[in-house]
Amino acid sequence: MTSYDVDLFVIGAGSGGVRAARIAAGYGARVKVAEEYRVGGTCVIRGCVPKKLMVYAGRFAGEFEDAAGFGWTVEGARFDWATLIANKDKEIARLEAAYHANLQKSGVEIVPQRAELEDAHTVRLADGTRVTAGTILIATGARPNLGLDIPGRELGITSNEIFHLERQPGSIVIQGAGYIALEFASLLAGLGTKVTVVHRGDKLLRGFDDDIRELIVKELEGHGVAFEFGATIEAIHAEGGGKRIRLNDGRDLFADEVMLAIGRTPNTTGLGLDKVGVHLNEAGAIAVDAGSRSNIPSIYAVGDVTDRANLTPVAIREGHAFADTVFGGKPWSVDHSLIPTAVFTEPEVGVVGLTEAEARAQGRRVDIYKTSFRPMKATLSGRQTRVFMKLVVDQKDNRVLGAHLLGEASAEIIQLVGVLLTVGATKADFDRTVALHPSAAEELVTLRDRHPSSDQLPEASAEMTPAI
Ligand code: NDP
Repeated sequence: MTSYDVDLFVIGAGSGGVRAARIAAGYGARVKVAEEYRVGGTCVIRGCVPKKLMVYAGRFAGEFEDAAGFGWTVEGARFDWATLIANKDKEIARLEAAYHANLQKSGVEIVPQRAELEDAHTVRLADGTRVTAGTILIATGARPNLGLDIPGRELGITSNEIFHLERQPGSIVIQGAGYIALEFASLLAGLGTKVTVVHRGDKLLRGFDDDIRELIVKELEGHGVAFEFGATIEAIHAEGGGKRIRLNDGRDLFADEVMLAIGRTPNTTGLGLDKVGVHLNEAGAIAVDAGSRSNIPSIYAVGDVTDRANLTPVAIREGHAFADTVFGGKPWSVDHSLIPTAVFTEPEVGVVGLTEAEARAQGRRVDIYKTSFRPMKATLSGRQTRVFMKLVVDQKDNRVLGAHLLGEASAEIIQLVGVLLTVGATKADFDRTVALHPSAAEELVTLRDRHPSSDQLPEASAEMTPAI
């Protein structure tokens, strides 16, 4: 039998790679993980975690304003960017240290270097050392897509740099209308930056339910974000300490910073994938089967480098399933069909399951339940905002196929709605659940009237499970 230096060599110590390494080591595998930058990956170092800390910071402004209606006088509230960045960096360093400690406790050796494939069982480290492994896992994540090579593109920043700006930008132009563009637009507006979002299309958040896509525009405008729809950035010029941004219609915008948030690209270059013959898909991501295995039997890949559902909890599950299957003798694979997700704008979006359009495109007849209401807090604060909730229900068996929320705490609520959809809850199950009053979430169990856009019930379906 061939003997290798290690049983598993993981390239990339982000969410997916770290989970896979720890679980495999727990089964007694000899594991090394190479990381060329900081342990923790995008989520911990320059993604979800620092972003959410900055989202919290941005929300205080609204809280201070809202406080007045409740009798509070808030005087002298001032925001200091440097304090936020320093405290955020301290927390990221703490988390990074915890990741290190957990890997070491599990018996995983961290190799602080870049690693590339040499052959199906060998990686070559930056210092020239070769390590052989029974199995290699690629978990190298993704990086911001910089888009077209427009003049002055190097003057733009991405979500990598925004976390380290020395000064808060007084104004910023953000290109894109996905998660990253809108989360930063929203949090920076909360912190007092003048924000303009430039988007090539006429709707935000592609792939989300159309109602959410409509309503989020008004909410974000109310939060201070300006939009330029049908627009693209053609050039960026440095001017007077800031930037002049030329749009496709010839107009110029001026801002302190320009951020490009137009998607992410799997990190597959320079990994030796060609040399070893690892197949990529049309998106340039590593093509894998349901068990995260590439076309080379000893090479697997998890997380954003496979471009399945580019979310931390998904990468973690993919890494866990891989380790259980390959090293634990407990095979399972990740179900990518029902993934709750949130966009941490102000207010936030929380969704799980099918959109109305997706359900109809699958040929399902659906009932639509939706509501929009003024949140209780807004009655005294006077804030112009609304909560929106929508359920997509299959007429065939009354199962809730999708839930789409916009409003405070939508991320928290949708996590648990995700449990309901996972166990196959029907609308009747929602209806027989006692409401918790007063809350926004209670509206989800008191939705009674089918929306007129529901498919007409065919005669025979008139006796389907009635809502209690
Ligand atoms: P998204 O794919 O969400 O959005 C990309 C945006 O950029 C879209 O609005 C798209 O427009 C636009 N775009 C794409 N290419 C171009 C181009 N060449 N010129 C102009 N505009 C363009 O990407 P993000 O970068 O926002 O986020 C990447 C991924 O990271 C997300 O898909 C998500 O999986 C993950 N993420 C998750 C978060 C969360 O869970 N809260 C937070 C942050 C990231 P169009 O609509 O026309 O295609």
